[in-house]
Amino acid sequence: MRLLDLKERIEEHIDQISEFTATPGKGTTRLTYSQEDLQTRNYIKSKMKENGLKVKEDGFGNIFGKLEGTLKDAPSVMIGSHFDSVPNGGSYDGPAGVVAALEVARLFVENKFTPKYPLEIIALVEEEGSRFGGGLMGSRGIVGLLSNDDFRNLKDKDGVSTEEAMAKIGLDPSLPRIRDPKTMKSFLELHIEQGPILEEKKIPVGVVEAIVGLTQLEVTIKGQAGHAGTTPMDRRADALVTAAQIIGQLPQFAVAEGEGTVITTGRLNVFPNGANVIPDQVVFSVDIRSGMEKNVLNVIEKTKELIDSFNKDGIETSVEQLLYIQPKELNAGIRSLLKEKSEGLNIPYCSINSGAGHDAMVFSDYTEVGMLFIPSKDGLSHCPEEWSDSEDIAKAVQIFYEAAKSLTEAE
Ligand SMILES: [Zn+2]
Repeated sequence: MRLLDLKERIEEHIDQISEFTATPGKGTTRLTYSQEDLQTRNYIKSKMKENGLKVKEDGFGNIFGKLEGTLKDAPSVMIGSHFDSVPNGGSYDGPAGVVAALEVARLFVENKFTPKYPLEIIALVEEEGSRFGGGLMGSRGIVGLLSNDDFRNLKDKDGVSTEEAMAKIGLDPSLPRIRDPKTMKSFLELHIEQGPILEEKKIPVGVVEAIVGLTQLEVTIKGQAGHAGTTPMDRRADALVTAAQIIGQLPQFAVAEGEGTVITTGRLNVFPNGANVIPDQVVFSVDIRSGMEKNVLNVIEKTKELIDSFNKDGIETSVEQLLYIQPKELNAGIRSLLKEKSEGLNIPYCSINSGAGHDAMVFSDYTEVGMLFIPSKDGLSHCPEEWSDSEDIAKAVQIFYEAAKSLTEAE
């Protein structure tokens, strides 16, 4: 298998799909069940058919292309990603993973591999949530996290419902929707990193260890308001000075944990917010993310202790936890398989965490999931400048091809 041929084919797919946009010259705008969705859908289906895959859609409009295995009624090894976009997004977020999957299937057929377990290429709708909100709609639907009523009641900003929009491009909402987890053996997804790490390290492939957990705290500091001119410095309980002292110490907690742990204060509300009044109340956010739960828990504990230590001299502090989402570790067996195949192919890789949610995260509660990242130029995504090197996609295809041969027990 020649890497350059593969790279060229991938570039052709990406170029072709990027033409299916509602905003030519201003990036990719491909909303779910739009004309651009239909054009892309037809392209993906035709490429599946060219490779001899059996093509099916479900009642959400997700696309499946199946290469049957020799075992009867065996669960599928699935590879894929989503094909919708944000408004004025790029050509790679989503399609890179669909195109990679199509090429894996082509390699199976070209090299006449017969899998024992079926290989299934999947292309998912509405991951971004740009039309109907929420996001991850296609994958959540497949695993049964979106009820028929909830799906039916979703409307876009013009009041068009999901099923009306589907009918408009000839999709059939009455097709089966939920899929028994027993029909899934594993799921592999390639995605662009959407961050700067791989590019900076000059490593073409990242094996995703975990999709990070997310904790949001809301901190309230209460002090005493007073005149900025007449209140002596030793008589103040300044809520903003206290908040500043706390916020300034937070980053070191994440740095001390390492392993990609991050902490951010992005919102700060000061009351009464007058230039000549000592602030009597400050409310600020703390966002903590890490791939490892122990890191998250350590940072939460240190943050709460620090805030508590300022509870004196007329200052009252309190912390409310608004959100806690556990980090999701991806399947250990698949992670080692992907690393083993990268080594076998002499493709440099590193471990990485995903700071964003993906369809892979949804599937990880139902089947064995593995994920690869490739570098994003300048770490950019969700914009027309989004770019990844097709050679890196080609490398990921080689890794997935080898991994899929093992997982499908192809001969
Ligand atoms: Zn995406």
